[in-house]
Amino acid sequence: MPRKKRARVEKPPLHVVSLSGGKDSTAMLLLMVEQSMPIDMVVTADTGMEFPEMYRHWDQVEQYLLRKRGLKLTILRHPEGFERMMFDHPVNRAEEWQHVTPYGYGWPGIKKGRWCTGQLKTHLINKAVSQLRKTHKIFHYVGIAADEPERIKGEHYPLCDWGITEAQALQICYDRGFDWGGLYEIYHRCSCWCCPFQRIDELRKLRRHHPQLWAKLLDMDDRALAQFGHNALGRFKDHWTVAELEERFSAEDREISLFDSDKKKGADVMNVLVVEPGMAPYEKEINGLEEMQAVVGGPISALYPFKETTVLVVNDEGINLGLEFNRSIEGGYGGVFGTFFVCGLNEDKFCSLTPEQMEHYKQKYLKAEVLIALNGNKPFTFKVDPRPRIPPDTPKHPPKKPGR
Ligand code: SF4
Repeated sequence: MPRKKRARVEKPPLHVVSLSGGKDSTAMLLLMVEQSMPIDMVVTADTGMEFPEMYRHWDQVEQYLLRKRGLKLTILRHPEGFERMMFDHPVNRAEEWQHVTPYGYGWPGIKKGRWCTGQLKTHLINKAVSQLRKTHKIFHYVGIAADEPERIKGEHYPLCDWGITEAQALQICYDRGFDWGGLYEIYHRCSCWCCPFQRIDELRKLRRHHPQLWAKLLDMDDRALAQFGHNALGRFKDHWTVAELEERFSAEDREISLFDSDKKKGADVMNVLVVEPGMAPYEKEINGLEEMQAVVGGPISALYPFKETTVLVVNDEGINLGLEFNRSIEGGYGGVFGTFFVCGLNEDKFCSLTPEQMEHYKQKYLKAEVLIALNGNKPFTFKVDPRPRIPPDTPKHPPKKPGR
């Protein structure tokens, strides 16, 4: 007897929208609703470390979804959450980490991996979607903007299909009254406030605009250092603990008040010592903030490594911008990347170096340094003779004499 063919049962479709809560996924969801596209489920993963404004945003989105489609948000949460994973989760450590407690992943980092993104976000969403695939034909929509095509990986990306960029996505949300309580006016990114992958500038803003979260970050940092030590698990960033950042930002605050008093009194011309990577130091007259920024090539930051009343003024983002290594600096600062200058400090403002100080720092930074390796923020270097410096108004290639 011929065998009967089993009828193939089509799985019913299920349209699932991933909502991180950021501008791209929110804009995608709003437009999908407006364009009457099918939506059966909107899922989001809560790491527990979102900004309070983000939780309010999710509430606002849910109210909107309830009104428009009668849908609630499906919020996925790992049973342990960020802090328990970071400090208490049992971990099988590699051999070189056997000396460290077997509990807690420590701070996420480039070398250690983003365990948090994997376990608290993508794994939860992928697991939920895979589960649904058993019974449904899944259409999974992900909010990636048209200017990030490298992130596309085989789901549905309506923003890319519509050619909507990140800037347009934000405007779409603003136009419809979704403004995250101003979060995007302050920060470039609005995911976990405790993320070690944030730029230094974002952390500076966190300290200024969310002091309670900053205080909590300091506590987490203390606990991580005490539990794991000054290593890749315990240090917030490769080159910074949160406490070191606190010191840096406080020093910057003092510096801003120096600039303020400078403005009140009228900026004086200062005689400073400029130190460029690879070059011998030289004297220069500087007048005011703009000239200081021009010397270091960007926003300035002050370091106070010396006991005497002198300051190193450096490019705030030197290492992140990939500027050339310049000189090693004592006092736990490690090294400076990019050009810096040394000036004096009197009670209420930056000032000229005295002739003795000028001579002292000329000798100190006479030799250039070549960076061999960095261990944390500790540079290993060897000293070399400085390259000859071409004065700025000397043409590098003198014009050729006209031939006969
Ligand atoms: S934003 Fe940062 S801390 Fe949060 S899950 Fe992603 S990598 Fe981890």
